[in-house]
Amino acid sequence: PKPDPERAAAIRRRDRAHVFHAWAAQKHIDPLPVAGGAGSYFWDYEGNSYLDFSSQFVNLNIGHAHPRVVAAVRDQAERLCTIAPHFTTEPRAEAARLIAGLAPGDLNRVFFTNGGTEANEHAVRMARTATGRPKILSAYRSYHGATATALNLTGDPRRWSADSGSAGVTHFFGPYPYRSAFHADSPEQECERALAHLDLTIRMEGPATIAAVLLETVIGTGGVLVPPDGYLAGVRRICDEYGILMITDEVMVGFGRTGEWFAVGHWDVVPDLLTFAKGVNSGYVPLGGVVVSDRVAAVFDHRPYPGGLTYSGHPLGCAAAVATIGAMRDEGMVEHAAWLGEQVLGPGLRDIAARHPAVGEVRGLGVFWALELVKDRGTREMLVPYAASPAESTPVTEVMAACRKAGLWPFANYNRIHVVPPCNLSAAEAAEGLAILDGALTAADAYTTE
Ligand code: PLP
Repeated sequence: PKPDPERAAAIRRRDRAHVFHAWAAQKHIDPLPVAGGAGSYFWDYEGNSYLDFSSQFVNLNIGHAHPRVVAAVRDQAERLCTIAPHFTTEPRAEAARLIAGLAPGDLNRVFFTNGGTEANEHAVRMARTATGRPKILSAYRSYHGATATALNLTGDPRRWSADSGSAGVTHFFGPYPYRSAFHADSPEQECERALAHLDLTIRMEGPATIAAVLLETVIGTGGVLVPPDGYLAGVRRICDEYGILMITDEVMVGFGRTGEWFAVGHWDVVPDLLTFAKGVNSGYVPLGGVVVSDRVAAVFDHRPYPGGLTYSGHPLGCAAAVATIGAMRDEGMVEHAAWLGEQVLGPGLRDIAARHPAVGEVRGLGVFWALELVKDRGTREMLVPYAASPAESTPVTEVMAACRKAGLWPFANYNRIHVVPPCNLSAAEAAEGLAILDGALTAADAYTTE
């Protein structure tokens, strides 16, 4: 693309004058004007292009400008752009059939929303209505969205500024072997103790007051925390024992990210409700939803469900989902993501870790990886503290700046760099990005005390 710096400057001026940005101190940001994207790359107006190791907000699972999805959105737009949710349409019926077919067990019905926050909002409302119980248990270090309920469910510092107390939510600790809340010294012990802690929390809260346990199948922004084998099955068992529903949030991990269509597939666990968004259509058009089990859906067979949205099952979003799932299936993208994790990203990141004292742990699966950065690998002291201010984040900011200068766009959260590229990243693109990251991490090593 031909550089057009004047256009970039004009976009910047209008943005700074009129756009109010999410999660930002408005005077402290300088958003990059983006001109376009194709596959795993996007570019600005000034001649720079970036290999996207963040998949934007970990949603761009098939890369930019996939011709099949672009064509599906265009065709649907020509036929019918929008329709009220009490009608039915072919794209919505077909998207629901495909999603239910990918979801495990008796998760057979789909309630469509505009994104992940609303998906969790409605899953929780379904659970509360179906059980008649008020409380939800959710994990620390989680992110579930930004409306009042979803933010209360969230277990990270983004909740604090809007927190109005428990609001029907109690938080618990999930497994995190590298920084165990349970002083465990093996993943097996971490699993056992995390389950005992959940069981105790439920007994102390009063099982009959708890509608659901909500958790990310693999914690995403909170650190790519892959649960030890047996943990999710244990949560399922505990929920069943107390008549509590299990909700898995697959907004970030669904649709191939972990090398399975849904991450629960790694552990053969069937929740009562499963939420999705992002990867369902790679974010080409906003779409999310709740996959509902037959058992929960039956509660609303003869009783109206108390909730709805003007854009539930939006034709453009659902047409994009149908095309995305078809493209992922026909091009073997989920299998490719699993292969990339096992053969390329995992080994590549472990190699990098061996060269950099700042890397304390590498963990992940599929196209879902985190490097946890530390001051000292012996003490595991975080290179940037939890809930760090921008000033405290300098070591990671410098790594990110070095990556961007070299044409790579990763994702960072506190002391972690996340490597979360599209599922259809090629091995050559992976090698290109890993080499840049390797060079950039030297900036972090300078802050280590080892
Ligand atoms: N749940 C998880 C696990 C997420 O990662 C996110 C977004 O990052 C959400 C929910 C919220 O989704 P959305 O931003 O589409 O509302």
